[in-house]
Amino acid sequence: MKCRNCGKENKEDALFCMDCGHDLREDRDFSKTEIINKGHSYYEEDDTKIVKNNSFKDNSMGLKQKGLVFGLVVVGLIVFSLIFNFGFSKYKYSKLETSANANLEAKNYKEAREKFSQLYEKSSDKKYLDEINKIDKMLETKDLLNKANKKYEERDYETSLANLKEI
Ligand SMILES: [Zn+2]
Repeated sequence: MKCRNCGKENKEDALFCMDCGHDLREDRDFSKTEIINKGHSYYEEDDTKIVKNNSFKDNSMGLKQKGLVFGLVVVGLIVFSLIFNFGFSKYKYSKLETSANANLEAKNYKEAREKFSQLYEKSSDKKYLDEINKIDKMLETKDLLNKANKKYEERDYETSLANLKEI
């Protein structure tokens, strides 16, 4: 039992230091905590050993691991490019759709029809076909109105009325 005050070695069961009279019971309590702390650090050391062992294993399987990492990178790249392509085509679609709708709003029916038919070709989505049909109907209506107007101007009221009835 080493005295914490002066460093003198005393008997293990001594209550006071032979040299300086320091209370060794306090030291005993202190050294108990030290043992607990040591125990803790022992485990820490153990962890380091485990890590070291693993890194040793890693080195011995270097080639296998490289293959695995390479495989993962390839799979990752494939997944990434799929997601990227999907996102990009979606972006392209939405750009085309925005343009189609803008043309529709601006009453550029022919432009809008062209964009919607491109969208339908690419996506086979029926909603684009509906838009195309709507535009065709509108173009037809416009055409009939023009005819009716023309006939009206020509004072051919009967044909003009017939055209308007067709709408
Ligand atoms: Zn002492």
